[in-house]
Amino acid sequence: MANGSCDGCGRPVTVTGGIANLWTFGEESEGSAMTLELADGTSHLLCYPCIEALPDEGEPTATDIERLEQVDEETSRLDVL
Ligand SMILES: [Zn+2]
Repeated sequence: MANGSCDGCGRPVTVTGGIANLWTFGEESEGSAMTLELADGTSHLLCYPCIEALPDEGEPTATDIERLEQVDEETSRLDVL
């Protein structure tokens, strides 16, 4: 267990595990997060709402991570997921 902030929306999160597969998350508690390793070799700590907001198609990229911030600010959609 470790604490940090989401690379997407910036909210404080608790890390429940290490590198994990993107699509194996399930009924995790709100505020938990996971480190995603991208195809370009970078890793990003993301909360579950941000992970769910990533595009379903293909590998997520750093551009997708940056886009998460905009999603959160513009719509607050992540708060209700
Ligand atoms: Zn987030």
